[in-house]
Amino acid sequence: MPVDATQPYDPNNIFAKILRDEIPSKRVYEDEFALAFHDINPVAPQHILVIPKGPYVSWDDFSARGSDAEIAGFVRAVGIVAREAGMVAPGYRLLANTGTDSGQEVPHLHVHIFAGRRMGPMLTR
Ligand code: AMP
Repeated sequence: MPVDATQPYDPNNIFAKILRDEIPSKRVYEDEFALAFHDINPVAPQHILVIPKGPYVSWDDFSARGSDAEIAGFVRAVGIVAREAGMVAPGYRLLANTGTDSGQEVPHLHVHIFAGRRMGPMLTR
């Protein structure tokens, strides 16, 4: 069920558990501010999720409460992950679902990185 992005942070959400290494993930990158791992149900040949290490429900929460260092660190990490995965020349797409209408399923901010094929139109009409 989609999450309400205005709810308080739930420290037991699945990505919080991945951050604490309580459940497994296929990690591809980690630094002080971010963790990246493969999406468990990929919808593109390359589908990686990047999450901030801090407790932020959504893009809205992070952009409002995140420190300048966390925001800069996270944005740089997304760029590094895509670059290191060889996605820049062929191209890639970023997506961050926020709240109910977007279909956000996990209440910890995550940016999807999709690559490996032509992505087609942004949204279906
Ligand atoms: P969203 O709909 O934007 O909230 O995306 C949630 C994403 O998390 C989906 O693409 C799921 O496939 C992915 N996902 C859910 N559980 C896991 C998990 N344990 N490990 C990796 N990806 C997951």
